[in-house]
Amino acid sequence: MRISKEHAIYEMSKENKAVARCQSGDTVIFETCDCFHDTVKSETDVVSSVDFDRVNPATGPLYIEDAEVGDLLKVDILSIKLDVQGAVVAAPGLGRLANLIEKEQTVIGKISGDTIKALNREIPVNKMIGVIGTTPKDEAVSTGTPHDHGGNMDCIEIREGISLYLPVNAEGALLAMGDLHACMGDGEVMGSGLEIAGEVEVRVEVVKDKKLPTPFIETEDKVITLASRETMEEAGDLVIRNMAQLLTEKTALSLEEAGILLSMAGNLKVCQVVNPNKTMRMELDKKYFD
Ligand code: CA
Ligand code: CA
Repeated sequence: MRISKEHAIYEMSKENKAVARCQSGDTVIFETCDCFHDTVKSETDVVSSVDFDRVNPATGPLYIEDAEVGDLLKVDILSIKLDVQGAVVAAPGLGRLANLIEKEQTVIGKISGDTIKALNREIPVNKMIGVIGTTPKDEAVSTGTPHDHGGNMDCIEIREGISLYLPVNAEGALLAMGDLHACMGDGEVMGSGLEIAGEVEVRVEVVKDKKLPTPFIETEDKVITLASRETMEEAGDLVIRNMAQLLTEKTALSLEEAGILLSMAGNLKVCQVVNPNKTMRMELDKKYFD
């Protein structure tokens, strides 16, 4: 099954009508626009030319049969395919150099194998998904804003080969995604990675009877909790608490011991510091889960 990028949403909401349906265990391809809705194609296309009512589109939503409120949705990222070039921008007021930036600039990065050519340099391709989520529990949330349902988390660990666990807050889960990056540094400090169109192949699976703190990621060798809040401080506290909770539920460790283990071997990292909520993550080697 394939979902065309014509099915773009700008809010994650229970009110969104599903554009496709599948069973738990199915594989689905999402075609995705870049975050500028594919309108920045050359270095003369600057941010102020972008229609801000149409930024950060997510493709979907996909209704997964049998996904009920309180379940978890496991999303295996099987592959990410990218267009041949992407765009990254600077503009006054945008990102963490906001007040220092005096003019708009767009840089086009060309993909050549595993390398991006930009700024007369070669940067390794590090494909990732910026926006991925289910519908939020309460009111609609812009696709530019991350929270407990996922959304615009801009986490470099949401890449090929991982499993992302999201909450099911409405029947069918209503999964949507977009905002691929060919590369992005932790923090996404200017507000964009190398923004690029592409397609993502995922396998979705409904996980019943699990009360685990979402969103979280399982990679080949790590477990990663994610949280998005108004400040990095709040998001950081939440990812630590969520990892401690995963440890106490999955191992025989007490909360005190879980905290001590995280203090010795857990890594608190920044995903992005430029969106309406900031996203942090805590990473722990899987071997500590017994
Ligand atoms: Ca983003
Ligand atoms: Ca982006």
